[in-house]
Order: sequence, then structure tokens, then C-alpha cells
Amino acid sequence: MKYISTRGQAPELTFEEAMLTGLARDGGLYLPAEIPVMTQDEIAALAGLNYEEIAFRVMWPYVSESFAEDEFRQIIARAYEGFGHDARAPLKQLNENHFLLELFHGPTLAFKDFAMQLIGQLFQVALKRRNDRVTIVGATSGDTGSAAIEAFRGLDAVDVFILFPHGRVSEVQRRQMTTPADSNVHALAVDGDFDDCQAALKDMFNDFDFRDGVKLAGVNSINFARVLAQIVYYFSAAVSLGAPHRKVSFTVPTGNFGDIFAGYLAKRMGLPIDRLVVATNQNDILHRCLSGEGYFKGDTIPSISPSMDIQVSSNFERALYYAYGEDGGAIAQLMDELKTGGFNVSQGAMEALRENFDSGRVSEEETLATIKSTLDQSAELVCPHTAIGIKVAEDHRAADVPMITLATAHPAKFPAAVEKASGEHPPLPSRMSDLYERPERVTRIANDLGALEDHIKRHIAE
Ligand SMILES: *Cc1c(COP(=O)(O)O)cnc(C)c1O
Repeated sequence: MKYISTRGQAPELTFEEAMLTGLARDGGLYLPAEIPVMTQDEIAALAGLNYEEIAFRVMWPYVSESFAEDEFRQIIARAYEGFGHDARAPLKQLNENHFLLELFHGPTLAFKDFAMQLIGQLFQVALKRRNDRVTIVGATSGDTGSAAIEAFRGLDAVDVFILFPHGRVSEVQRRQMTTPADSNVHALAVDGDFDDCQAALKDMFNDFDFRDGVKLAGVNSINFARVLAQIVYYFSAAVSLGAPHRKVSFTVPTGNFGDIFAGYLAKRMGLPIDRLVVATNQNDILHRCLSGEGYFKGDTIPSISPSMDIQVSSNFERALYYAYGEDGGAIAQLMDELKTGGFNVSQGAMEALRENFDSGRVSEEETLATIKSTLDQSAELVCPHTAIGIKVAEDHRAADVPMITLATAHPAKFPAAVEKASGEHPPLPSRMSDLYERPERVTRIANDLGALEDHIKRHIAE
């Protein structure tokens, strides 16, 4: 399988090369040249298998040129062995036809562990074989950073620098990034918002001298290996509810469009998904766009679901690429227009998007009310992101198709909002109950490309 850029001007790469590179050199995002398809029999055969075996069968066609079969099975086994639930991604019934897919049983209590733990193992194996090392720089609205740090801490071929918006992540998120003592972990609190962090990261990737000098690698949700890992739980969940013989729909609390794009790929691979529903908070560029208002940046407004406080949704470029008939030139032009504010989506592309995606937006008040009503009606305490999913799912539910809402984080990651809404304090799982006692290590830094690059150059191991 070869990997191509959404903007059509970068060299084709193998899976391993695309993974180690992250962003393509033409500014685009990597995608497989063809989406592999599973037959209905192959999908039916997934029923009853454990998560790791489903993961192997779903991901193998994407990676088979870069890893040996046994090697890849071991990578998967190591990635998920630290999860706190044997099912890895258990399904819980909320009410008659509505299910929660619990994706928060990994080491940092959010769904990003699914991809990040896998990518950590993939990097380790690939770099060892190449006798090479890389500098991983990530931008985070909270959960990506802690997941990356957990996945890469202590690996000797990697330094990890995580940029997070100072004062705009929850205390649990911050502590998960600042308390690991490993010398290859560097937490940077940037004076800016998440979009500033993400923009700085993109600028570093476009500064080829810096990029090559420090062997920069990215593990943000633009990295195709992240998207790939997330396809798996769409299959495991749908099959456990009767796919391929029965259709299901998914609602996904979305910021960067990475998680829901994985659902789109699952559908293209043959999984019978009826609707993919985008759920946003008040930072609703995706909902506005899918409602036909064009893709125009607004100001990011801090919310109680901070992992979705995003106004430029990186992975949406991948969906646009398919909606525009795989025309890299058209995507490059749209992304140019985005630099100066935004663009309108063509009528044909809108129709293509609407074939798969619905959307909804949830206010802060509705988020709090949904946390409360979910506790009252289903005895589940949910995080604010998950509550946004539940609210939008209830608004879009069809009577005859099961709806699966992705529960993206554990409520204990966002205790203030959960307690405000429900009156209940969500306790941390016992394996991390000393988080508040561990010493923190963090560098506060200006939102300035030169300062950031300089800091990174001075702190990588030789
Ligand atoms: C990252 C994150 C999201 C958004 O996921 P995307 O892939 O960026 O759409 C939603 N909820 C939580 C808890 C997250 O950490």
C-alpha cells in the first residue's frame, strides 16, 4: 500500500515513512492510495474475536509492507496490555437503542490512548530497525499530549515535546503531562490557545531546516497511523451489535475530525454504517460547514469540553479530499483560502459530505444538563465531551438503527464540570490516585516560533 498526500504534490510513501513523517511536504495529509475493502464474510468473522485480533485483521492491509505479521501482532499486544479493561473498548447500553462505546480505559483515560499507545510501539520497532532517532513535537488541547507522553516516555530513540495552551487544560490533563519524570519528556505551556499551538507545530514542519535538523516527527491526529488505530473500534462495536447483518450509526464528539474520519474509513472498508454524526461544542466550525454555511474560522471560545475547543479542524482536509473527488489541486487551493479566513464548499462536495455525515452543536448549558439527565436516567456519569455526543445522538437517532455514541474520556478527567452538573465528584481510577501528589515539571514559553524551535534544539538528547 502506497500513501499519497491530500494536496497531490508530495512523494508517495510507504506506511512506515508516512508514519515517521506525519505531515506531507506539500502541507497535505497522507492517505492510502486505495482504501482496502473487507468482504461481508470477513466482517462477519470478526464477531466473537478479542480486540487485539480484530485490530490485526482490520489494520493489516494498511501496514503489511512495513511490518512482519508476527511483529505487528506483538506491537498490538503491547499497545493494549496496559488498558484497565479486558474488552479494551466495551459497549454499554444507555437506553433502548442507544449505546456508549467506552474509549477511556487506557493509561490517560481518553480515547487517544488507542492510537497513541499503538504509535509508540510502531515507532519503537521502526526506529530500532533503522538505528535512528526522532524528535516528536505535538500540539494538544489536553488529551493528545498526555497520551503521547505516556506512549513515548522512556523510549531512548525519541524526545517528546508537547505544546499545550497555558491555563486552558484541566488540572488532571496538565498533571498527566507535567508529572512523568522521564528525561525524554518535555512539557511546554505556550502563551496562546490550542489553534496557536497547532499553527506553531505546522510552521515547524514547514521550516525544512529545523525539521530535518532535529528529525522532527509528528504524532498529532494528522498522522495517518493515529487514524488507522481508530478504525478498529468502529468494527468491534458494530460487529458486537450485529454487523454486517445490521446497520449501526455513530455519533462522535469531534474537534479535529480525526476520530470521526476513522469511522468514515470504516464505512468505506465495507462496514455497514448508516450515519456518522458530528457533535461539536460552541466551537462549531464543522457544524456550520456541514449545515451549508461554508468553512470559515471563528475565534476559539474556551468551553467545559476543552479537547474540542478547535476552530481549524485538521483532519477535515481528508474528508474534503474525498468529497472533491480526490482532486489534490482543489484541496491545495481551498487550504490557501483558509489562510485568509475560509472558503465555501462546492455543491457537489456538500452533497458528498451529506451522504455520510450529519451534525449538531451543543451549548454549555445543554452539556451540563445532559450530564445530569444521563446520570438520572441511565446511572452513568459521563465527561462533558461524551455528554455532547449523547445530546446530538438523541437528536439524530432513527428508531430502527442502533446508535453508538463514542465516550471519549473518563469523567474524572474533567471533575469540575462533572461535579458542577451532577453534584457528584468523579474519582480517579485507583491506578492513578496519587496524581495530585507527584511533582510537576513544565516550561512556560512565548507563542513564538523562534523561541520554540530554539528551546527544542537545546533540549534534545545527542
Ligand atoms: C481529542 C478529543 C476529542 C476530539 O477528537 P478529534 O479526533 O479531534 O475529533 C473529543 N473528546 C475528547 C475527550 C478528546 O480527547
